[in-house]
Amino acid sequence: MTRVIKTVKEWNELYKSENLSASQLGFVPTMGALHRGHASLIEKSVADNRKTAVSIFVNPTQFNDSNDLQKYPKTFEQDFAMLEEYNVDYLFFTSYEELYADKFAYQVHENSFSKILCGAFRSGHFDGVLTVVLKLLNIIKPGRAYFGEKDYQQYKLVKGMAEAFFLQTEIIACPTVRDEDGLALSSRNLLLSPEEREFALNFPRLLKANKSCDEIKFELEQLGFKVDYIEEYDGRYLGAVYAGKVRLIDNVIL
Ligand code: AMP
Repeated sequence: MTRVIKTVKEWNELYKSENLSASQLGFVPTMGALHRGHASLIEKSVADNRKTAVSIFVNPTQFNDSNDLQKYPKTFEQDFAMLEEYNVDYLFFTSYEELYADKFAYQVHENSFSKILCGAFRSGHFDGVLTVVLKLLNIIKPGRAYFGEKDYQQYKLVKGMAEAFFLQTEIIACPTVRDEDGLALSSRNLLLSPEEREFALNFPRLLKANKSCDEIKFELEQLGFKVDYIEEYDGRYLGAVYAGKVRLIDNVIL
């Protein structure tokens, strides 16, 4: 049974009563609408740790577009069934009021890497991400936390924050999970029409096509994508594009 915890106080009580300790606790933060990508992080945590906690929280401070926040898919019942199926011990399912009693007056800013790639197009996005991750790590107190390489810049920034602030949680990267046709799994894929989904397949196909960034960008634009960026970083090609109104990100190892 997955136990649902809604407040920090409840979590602190449970941490004591269940004799939890960082060395035995894995944590997977999510925004819900769970899919096999999330499941791969959960499986790794369940394998590595005596107990696993997952959080579902659609974090408003990381959305620079209120429309995007409103449309973000919510599938709580299926999510909960998946957590039970994967033997997750705890679901931390809290509210904005609980996490942001300070009304976002206190924020984590990163001044360098968060300004390029996605950061150049989504002002304030990574401040929201880093702030909520710091809050969640301080509440849950896990020894290990699992992040997907699908959101490569996010993973690197979280890892950098953990080092900069001497956090006691090890940040662990997990490889990108794709559908059989190559599209990286993402909660936002639920917002694609069947035609848009078919069209979106060109994005991973071209990222892997052994071409230069400029060529990939050019070809995507020729096909009708709006391209935020295609750039090389850390031995990877990273990109962000729009298929219709849905923003997709992906990256491949070169
Ligand atoms: P999200 O719910 O989109 O905030 O994602 C929660 C975590 O799952 C993040 O660490 C993501 O990087 C990770 N994740 C999302 N999609 C995938 C995927 N296709 N493969 C691996 N990890 C993923």
